Amino acid sequence: MAVTQADERRVLDQVETRLFIGGAWRPGAAGELAVEDPSTTETLTEVADASAQDAEDALAAAHESGAAWAGTAPRERADIIRRAYDLMIERRDDLALLMTLEMGKPLAEAAGEVTYAANFLRWYSEEAVRIDGRFTTNEAGGGRVLTMRRPVGVCLFITPWNFPLAMGTRKIGPALAAGCTSVVKPAKQTPLSMLAFAQILEQAGVPAGVVNVITGSSSGSLMAPLIADARVRKLSFTGSTEVGKKLIEQSAEQVLRVSMELGGNAPFIVFDDADLQRAVDGALLAKMRNGGEACTSANRFIVQESVAEQFAGRLAERIGAMKAGRGTEQGVDVGPLIDAAQLGSVERHVEDATAKGARVLCGGSRAAGPGYFFEPTVLTDVPRGADLLSEEIFGPVAPITTFATDDEAIAMANDTEYGLVAYLFTQDIDRAFGAFDALDTGMIGFNQGMVSNAGAPFGGVKQSGYGREGGPEGLDEYLETRYVAMNSPA
Ligand code: NAP
Repeated sequence: MAVTQADERRVLDQVETRLFIGGAWRPGAAGELAVEDPSTTETLTEVADASAQDAEDALAAAHESGAAWAGTAPRERADIIRRAYDLMIERRDDLALLMTLEMGKPLAEAAGEVTYAANFLRWYSEEAVRIDGRFTTNEAGGGRVLTMRRPVGVCLFITPWNFPLAMGTRKIGPALAAGCTSVVKPAKQTPLSMLAFAQILEQAGVPAGVVNVITGSSSGSLMAPLIADARVRKLSFTGSTEVGKKLIEQSAEQVLRVSMELGGNAPFIVFDDADLQRAVDGALLAKMRNGGEACTSANRFIVQESVAEQFAGRLAERIGAMKAGRGTEQGVDVGPLIDAAQLGSVERHVEDATAKGARVLCGGSRAAGPGYFFEPTVLTDVPRGADLLSEEIFGPVAPITTFATDDEAIAMANDTEYGLVAYLFTQDIDRAFGAFDALDTGMIGFNQGMVSNAGAPFGGVKQSGYGREGGPEGLDEYLETRYVAMNSPA
C-alpha cells in the first residue's frame, strides 16, 4: 500500500525525541539536533542533544540498576526480552517507515531489518535461561573446579546509521539476557529508530535504568568521559575502523572488554565453474542490499577471466534495471545515500576508477533530484590500482576485476587490511574447501550473497575488528567466567 504524508506524520509524531535516562524521558541539556530525510534533504524532526552531564546521568542510571538486573530471575529477563520481540513484530510497519524516513532504504528492506533486529531479541530471550557453568574434578583428583558465568557489568554501545535497529538489538539483546545494563548512543543521522526501540523496551517492562539511550551531536565528547569511567566494564562499537581504533585506545585506560564490528572490503569471488545465475542473484543481494551501504557489501567482484564478460553483462542488466528513489515509493529498489559526504565519496571513487581505465556498463553518476542519490552502477575492467578496490565504497557501485588462477583469486581477496566477509561461488567442493581455509575473513558466504542471521556469529578479523554478535558466541561477549577452586573433603 502506498505511504501517505499522514502515515509519515503519524510515525514521526509517535516517536519520542527526548533522552531515555533512568526510565524517564527528558530533554537534552545541549538543545536539539535535526534529523534529515536523505531523499529530500528536508528536516524530519529534531531530537534531544545530550550534554556531558546527561551522559554521566545515563551511566549513573545503568550503574545503579546493575545489581538488581543481574539478580533478576533468568526467566523474568527472558520474558521481558520476548515481549520486546513481540512488540517489534507487532509494530513492524511503523518501525520500518520511521527507518526509511531517516535512513533512506526502501520500505521492504526496512521491514526486513526490523524482523532481523527483532530476531536477536527472540534468540537471546531463549538463551537467557540457559546460561550455565561446570563442575569437574581437577586433574590431580583431589579437588573440584567450579565455574560460573556472571554478567560483565555496565556496557556502552555505539551504533552506526546504516542498520539503525539491528546494530543495536544485537548488542542490547545478549546484554539483557546476560544481566548487563547499558548506555546506548545511536548515530546522529538515525536516532529515531533507536528511540522508538527504547519506547518498546519501556513497554515490554525493562526496569528503569537498565537500558538508557542518549542522542547527541558530539559523540566524541559525550562518550570519552564514559569510556574512562571506572563503573563501565565493556564497550561494544559498530562503525568505521578509523573511529574504532580511537575507541580501542580510549578503552585501554580502564582495560575494558571491547567488541569491535568495523569496516569491510568484501571480495566476491566467482570461479569459472560457478552457477552464473546463482552468482548474479547473490551479487545483487551482496552488493545492492542497503544500497551498498553495508559493512558486508561486496566491494570487489573478482571473477575468473573466462566467465567475466558474461557475468558482467548479466549483472549490468539486472543492476541497470534497478530503480533509485525515495524509499517510501512503490517499485523503488535503491534509496538515497545517507548524506552529502557519502555521495561525494562514492562519486570520487567512480571518477578515480574510470580515470584509471574502468568501463561503465551502467549508471556512473549521481542521479537528478534533491536527495543524495547515486545511480546503480557496474564498472568492468577495473584496474588493480583503483581506489575503490582497497577502500570501502559504501554505495551502489559494483566494480569487476578478473583473475586467471585460484591462487591469484585468493591472493587478491586477502590483499586488504579488512577481513569481515568473503563471498565464494563455485560448484566444486574441493575448490570451496581450499578457499574456506585460505580466506582471511571472519565469515564466508558460500554460493549465497548474505550471511546475516541472529543464530550465527557475525564478526571479522584483521582491521574489521574482533568479537562476535549473534548465536551463542554473541552471549559470551557479555559474560565473565568465575572459577572457584575447592578441595575435596579428606
Ligand atoms: P562511524 O563514523 O565510525 O560512526 C559510528 C558511530 O560512532 C556513530 O554513532 C558515531 O556517532 C560514533 N562516533 C563517531 N566518532 C566517535 C568518537 N570519536 N567517539 C565516540 N563515538 C563516535 O561509522 P558510520 O559512518 O556511522 O558507519 C559506517 C561504518 O560502519 C562503515 O565503516 C561500516 O563498514 C561499519 N559497519 C560495520 C559493521 C560490522 O558489523 N562490522 C556493521 C555496520 C557498519 P555520530 O553519528 O555522532 O558521528
